[in-house]
Amino acid sequence: MTNSKIWFADARATEFDYYYSLVAKLEEILDQVDVGNYFEKDDYVAIKTHFGSYGGHRVVRPIFIQKVVEAVKQAGGKPFVTDTVRIPGIEYLEVANSEGLNHLSLGAPMVLADGLFGKDLVNVESGPILGEIGIASAIHDAPSMIVISHCKGHIGSGFGGAIKNLGMGAISCKNECGHAERGRIHFAQNTGLKWEPENCTLCERCVDVCPHDAIYRTEEDQIEINYEICVKCGRCARVCKEEALIVPQSEERFQKGLSEAAYAAVQTFQEGRILYINFILEVQPECDCMPMADTPLIQDQGVLVSDDIVAIEQATLDIIKEAEPLPQSKAAENNVTPGKELFNQVTGKHPQWHVDYAEELGMGQKDYDLIKVNSKEKPEEDKK
Ligand code: SF4
Ligand code: SF4
Repeated sequence: MTNSKIWFADARATEFDYYYSLVAKLEEILDQVDVGNYFEKDDYVAIKTHFGSYGGHRVVRPIFIQKVVEAVKQAGGKPFVTDTVRIPGIEYLEVANSEGLNHLSLGAPMVLADGLFGKDLVNVESGPILGEIGIASAIHDAPSMIVISHCKGHIGSGFGGAIKNLGMGAISCKNECGHAERGRIHFAQNTGLKWEPENCTLCERCVDVCPHDAIYRTEEDQIEINYEICVKCGRCARVCKEEALIVPQSEERFQKGLSEAAYAAVQTFQEGRILYINFILEVQPECDCMPMADTPLIQDQGVLVSDDIVAIEQATLDIIKEAEPLPQSKAAENNVTPGKELFNQVTGKHPQWHVDYAEELGMGQKDYDLIKVNSKEKPEEDKK
């Protein structure tokens, strides 16, 4: 079997010239891969990215998404930019807008893939851990997709790239009954948050951070959760400093579930209909769902493009592993050693596990060849 191809453009721009900018290099890569190969003329093309959160400001910048939109339009496709809801739908579109992501800036409509109320889905078989999972309908029904991922750390999987972007982000927030669907990946089967009263200081940070008002303090000073509206996002447990709120889930099960969910999403497309773009920029330790963003762990590395999700994730991890940790970051704080798994040293999790499992599921292969793109080809009239 031949290695998978990955196009890579370094984030450094060594000439004072647009053609050496990362934006221009992305244009060049999109030309070289020929995005038109991934859809038919007039096809709807889902451009899946993460819209971010209030306080989390390190999502992929609009200019890069706009270049992808432009390339799709030039090749005859009909792009729409999409994500699934994490907080109530209208607020989520407001978040996107506050990140600079909107129809005007991107040149394509913004669509909530699981609908305004986060429960438009089609159930699809995923794997032994999750069984059926609800794929957001606009992703399920789209004939082709370009997955644009901001690569960063993640509390459950250590690393959030393309697998995480689909494994969480292509899944409907809720099921048809309005109960947590995506959250089933965070929690072991049919379980909820475990509250440990002996550790709890009743600080109410968990109450304040919940985007759905699903967790509250009772008059009897108990912390309770309303599972009719809780989407099992785990945010409340993340902010609890006392280990008084526990998400009952093993790391291995979470990581495998994540890959199974991504697998289910990918299976809804014909072969050769998905392209992946991973940005290794502003690699912070937390997911873009969090209400903040820490300083980057490493210097910006660049952008990768491939149609093999496993290969692109592996290449991303390999590049990140070799990068120098930045001062004033969590990487420096943890005395990270370059050449060893960075996210493991920062989060204690094992990102390789979900990449390996994705390969086991047949989603792609870890062997790749890197094709380096150093600049955009200049048109003749500009070569002066
Ligand atoms: S954040 Fe933790 S310690 Fe604070 S109220 Fe919630 S459970 Fe208790
Ligand atoms: S997991 Fe916690 S933060 Fe998330 S919806 Fe449920 S109660 Fe709210």
